Amino acid sequence: MFDERSGDWRYTLGGKTCFDAKSAFAINIKQNLHGREINDKLLSYLNTCKREILMEIPLRLDDGSLLPVHAYRVQHNNARGPFKGGIRYHDKVNLQEVREMANLMTWKTALVDIPYGGAKGGVAIDPKKLSFHEIRRLTKALVSHLGNNIGPHIDIPAPDVNTNPQVMAWIFDEFSKTHSEGSPLAVVTGKPTEVGGSQGRLEATGRGVAICYREACKYKGLDPKELRVAVQGFGNVGYHTAKIIHEELGSKIIGVSNAVSAVHNENGIDLKALKDYSDTHNESLDGFPGAESIPRDDLLLLDCEVLVPAALSKAVNTKVANAAKSLKILLEAANAPTTPEANAILHEKGVCIIPSVLANAGGVIVSYFEWVQNLQQFYWTYDKVVAELEERMVRAFKHVIELAQEKDIGLRQASYCLALDRVARALILRGF
Ligand code: GLU
Repeated sequence: MFDERSGDWRYTLGGKTCFDAKSAFAINIKQNLHGREINDKLLSYLNTCKREILMEIPLRLDDGSLLPVHAYRVQHNNARGPFKGGIRYHDKVNLQEVREMANLMTWKTALVDIPYGGAKGGVAIDPKKLSFHEIRRLTKALVSHLGNNIGPHIDIPAPDVNTNPQVMAWIFDEFSKTHSEGSPLAVVTGKPTEVGGSQGRLEATGRGVAICYREACKYKGLDPKELRVAVQGFGNVGYHTAKIIHEELGSKIIGVSNAVSAVHNENGIDLKALKDYSDTHNESLDGFPGAESIPRDDLLLLDCEVLVPAALSKAVNTKVANAAKSLKILLEAANAPTTPEANAILHEKGVCIIPSVLANAGGVIVSYFEWVQNLQQFYWTYDKVVAELEERMVRAFKHVIELAQEKDIGLRQASYCLALDRVARALILRGF
């Protein structure tokens, strides 16, 4: 956020400074923009969201009563292309969080160089308390409230926390009723393959995290087969990350948690068995025979070489950072899971931190592939999707490492430098 007193621009999370853009501009952008000075006006502009949509949606419950539900769509920046970002359903969603997440999407799409800006949506409700048909009615009402603020060349939503391909199919269906021209399928990504979705989208975020992990191991001279991994979150991102890291890279998954419980086994956890167990035990991991149950939050305190926060933001706090003994790699699979204080402690301890704007970009990269396929009406094979994802992730990782080494800065700062540079260039070329 823009700090009025110092005239400085900072990326903040929950009011705490995460990243000081002034230093990024000083080392990178000012030198690169053909001698054109970036001034505080541009920084202040980038700190403000372009459009914020606040809604109160009347949801008809199954018993016939009406429940008012608060919802937000924040469109941060579209200098490089249409707004892009997920929609989350969570009872703790609020406007400030959605703003911060929209802001992150702008840097993420710029960093991996796909032609989008950044947005995020949030609906303040716990979907676990709703029936299937209540979630369907809520989603369709959300789309009708959003009206022309979303569209294939305007703003393209996608899955996020507690939303899935089914919800995306409903978004497309509702939108297509009023927008039959053009390519209404391209209004939303992360759809089921039966309704215009892309091969490989479901696991794309996890696959992208695993690619970053493999590259980070190479960069640090580590053998993934010798590393113990703890994964916080067993939803779409956590599950696929753990599965790919174990099956394709040979690392041992020693701990897994979800929203309610956690399990630990030093000899490694059978992920398929754990998934089957959670699917048949109301999403609880408690009592899983292949591991010992531990308190949910102790997962982040387990002794391990690799920690993968794949749930909500701010999970990796000072307690977690201070407890880290053997930690070598922090793989930010969730959006902004590390507090600035914890980041400083881990950086000091020499932990290789792969920031979320890079680590979890696989999801939005394959969203881009899905959008391209929808617009062209030409569908790719699974192997083509994986190969293209691989190429883009490796390229972005390489650019981040090169800048980090050249300027002697962390991977987070290098990532933001590259992203800010691209967004600022686009804004200036467009006549800011
Ligand atoms: N919600 C995901 C993210 O935070 C995916 C966004 C998208 O595909 O547009 O990156």
